[in-house]
Amino acid sequence: MKLAIVGGGPAGISLALFLKGTRIDATVYEGLGSLGLKPCAWGVLSDIEKIIHVPKESIISEIKGFKIYLDNKLLYDIRKKEKLGYIINKPLFLKILSENIDLRLNSKVVSKEGKILINGKEEYADKVIFANGHYSLPSETTIPAIQYITDYNIDPEIVEMYFYSDLLGYGWVFPEEGGSKIGIGGYAKVDFLKEKLNSLVKGKIKRFQGARVNDYGVLEERLNGEYVGEALGTVYAVTGEGIRPSIISSKILADSLLENKDFKEEFKKSRLYSSLKTHSSVIKSAKKSNSIKGLERVLLKADPDLVIKFAMGDFTKIDLLKLFGRMIF
Ligand SMILES: Cc1cc2nc3c(=O)[nH]c(=O)nc-3n(C[C@H](O)[C@H](O)[C@H](O)COP(=O)(O)OP(=O)(O)OC[C@H]3O[C@@H](n4cnc5c(N)ncnc54)[C@H](O)[C@@H]3O)c2cc1C
Repeated sequence: MKLAIVGGGPAGISLALFLKGTRIDATVYEGLGSLGLKPCAWGVLSDIEKIIHVPKESIISEIKGFKIYLDNKLLYDIRKKEKLGYIINKPLFLKILSENIDLRLNSKVVSKEGKILINGKEEYADKVIFANGHYSLPSETTIPAIQYITDYNIDPEIVEMYFYSDLLGYGWVFPEEGGSKIGIGGYAKVDFLKEKLNSLVKGKIKRFQGARVNDYGVLEERLNGEYVGEALGTVYAVTGEGIRPSIISSKILADSLLENKDFKEEFKKSRLYSSLKTHSSVIKSAKKSNSIKGLERVLLKADPDLVIKFAMGDFTKIDLLKLFGRMIF
């Protein structure tokens, strides 16, 4: 079977990798001239390694702790002995993963009446999978996210997350090579986000960048086996984490294709689906009440370990009841 994958982000590249050496002959078409150019803070949690190898060369630092702030006031300073995740060099990570797959760069795909045109030329495929990220999402399912890359040095083992009582969103200060990435994303106008971001920025600004990111969760109508990764809505809405869930969604899709199983059924059975759904319920309920009071209460009162479990998408129903009471059910 000839499979065309549109987009060479974490979802598209990992899908091709999971299918490598099988009866499915996958080609990834990436519109840009190299991988990993989309703005991103490059943080991944370590349980990504349960399904994909993180090449050593692509690791910038190991994350061993979180600092969580509410209205710029430090609430939690959590440090663990074991690693919780990594800051990766995402372009290098994707480049290494793509080494043995069929990847076509500078190949912009347009789909028309079931056919695909690559840079205007029709190409045959038995099946097309859209792994083209937020680019294909309706804008009401995404929020703007912006970041500065600065020379401000922070502890390379700690990531900082910022929440605000007047913003449905999150800020971050993540370590990176030679400085940090300092950003914010939320359900607000970019000018408002910029103002908030200015209170976080430290060091000399090297670059400013931005993109939209899904805050809606899974788009049920896209659970037809033709979408994967952020194009399907696989981003944790409360924290904006999209790399790991996108790769997990590709693993579920690859397994469904190889085992002739129904993707929708397999995806809906997965832990990923239920944890993404819970995250998006928190955001939807906050949007409905136009307040982040529920999330604020959790941040102020919850057991830090539970907060981490929630952020990682690794929680049980009992954890949720402890965190949110009946708020999101
Ligand atoms: C500012 C910011 C910071 C973020 N920080 C983090 C973070 O630290 N950790 C984390 O886990 N997540 C983070 N995210 C989210 C994360 O970047 C995405 O959710 C993740 O990259 C999604 O992977 P994907 O492969 O589904 O899509 P993408 O990474 O968006 O890849 C899609 C690819 O498709 C290509 N494409 C689009 N249209 C076409 C076309 N027509 N033809 C060919 N190619 C096409 C694009 O060029 C792109 O390379 C951040 C997002 C933003 C905006």
